Amino acid sequence: LANEPIGGSRPAARRSRQARVAWGSNVVTVGGDAPVRVQSMTNTDTVDVIETAIQCKELAQAGSEMVRITVNTPEAAAAVPAIREQLDRMGVDVPLIGDFHYNGHRLLSEFPACAAALSKYRINPGNVGKGDKRDRQFAMMIEAALRHDKPVRIGVNWGSLDQELLAALMDANAQRREPWDAKQVMYQALVQSALDSASYAVELGMDPAQVILSCKVSGVQDLVSVYRGLSARCDHPLHLGLTEAGMGTKGTVASATALALLLQEGIGDTIRVSLTPQPGEARTQEVVVATEILQSLGLRAFNPSVTACPGCGRTTSTTFQELSKQIDDFLRSQMPVWKLRYPGVENLRVAVMGCIVNGPGESKHADIGISLPGTGEAPAAPVYIDGEKAVTLRGEGIAAEFHKLVEDYIER
Ligand code: SF4
Repeated sequence: LANEPIGGSRPAARRSRQARVAWGSNVVTVGGDAPVRVQSMTNTDTVDVIETAIQCKELAQAGSEMVRITVNTPEAAAAVPAIREQLDRMGVDVPLIGDFHYNGHRLLSEFPACAAALSKYRINPGNVGKGDKRDRQFAMMIEAALRHDKPVRIGVNWGSLDQELLAALMDANAQRREPWDAKQVMYQALVQSALDSASYAVELGMDPAQVILSCKVSGVQDLVSVYRGLSARCDHPLHLGLTEAGMGTKGTVASATALALLLQEGIGDTIRVSLTPQPGEARTQEVVVATEILQSLGLRAFNPSVTACPGCGRTTSTTFQELSKQIDDFLRSQMPVWKLRYPGVENLRVAVMGCIVNGPGESKHADIGISLPGTGEAPAAPVYIDGEKAVTLRGEGIAAEFHKLVEDYIER
């Protein structure tokens, strides 16, 4: 019985081909046996080289393994090599992805230095050419990818779906006698658009592994249906994301729900969380959410995890809330250095608990945990290290002492 998973096993991950998105010696593999990759997108004006380079660096440091920038004008295309140069000078080798719409064929042809500085091109089949994907504009983008040896993402989007393809599928269904579901036709159009463009790219000479696909929509159930369909019909690596997820809690929850449902089924090779930043909120928040989704699912570890109870009427003070926040902030702030110095530190589990009910038990499950005293309990905070009670802290300095114990544990 002990060997039979009580809730069944997680389905095996869909095995796709593997793309290589590279800059210098930094090769980010996408798909195949690679871990699910995190990517993000800047919201600066690409023409502003310094501001864009700084945001790329911040996103990379937050955990984004690839960063997409919009390349929408000749001025933006001209700025791309300078952004790359700034990043190289800062020692940031994150691959840059160019996001092209409408004029990508021209920009990639007329600005070869831009085409060379980017590590991947995003093509939206909904706004390349005149609906006929076998046209010259699409071919020009693929030719640029072949000339510069770059992968592409064919990114279909609900909001800019190829209207001619959709109309043709709607017309075909309108001839049917039996009832048909217009939403299913929309899903088919999304998937078909991606697959048609992908097969044309392959015909033009692209290695199928270097063609990443996405079909983004803004509804959770729609996304699940579309990606289940897409993943069953091809073995291209898949870029997963809920487009225009929205702001704050709504955007975060919707993205986490949609991505978790698909990732749990083994669908998705790279993810992007599209959050609208709230005033004053850093762009890096979308990377934090993406990494937390993967970490919560147990697919990857980026930062030590801090388990904290919510607190309740048994809690005597907010010390434990403050302590858990402090520890979490401290661990995250140290990670850029620690991950180089202490391999595996991202797997650390810390517990900060509010009383004796679940405190000792949860602390024992962690690598290092503290159970703070609740109402009516003796003013003592036992600390557990590797499942054993190691020391009991008392008095005003509990927070500082626990902080030190965590640091010592990591160093050890
Ligand atoms: Fe409340 Fe204690 Fe549970 Fe925390 S561990 S939620 S303080 S009962």
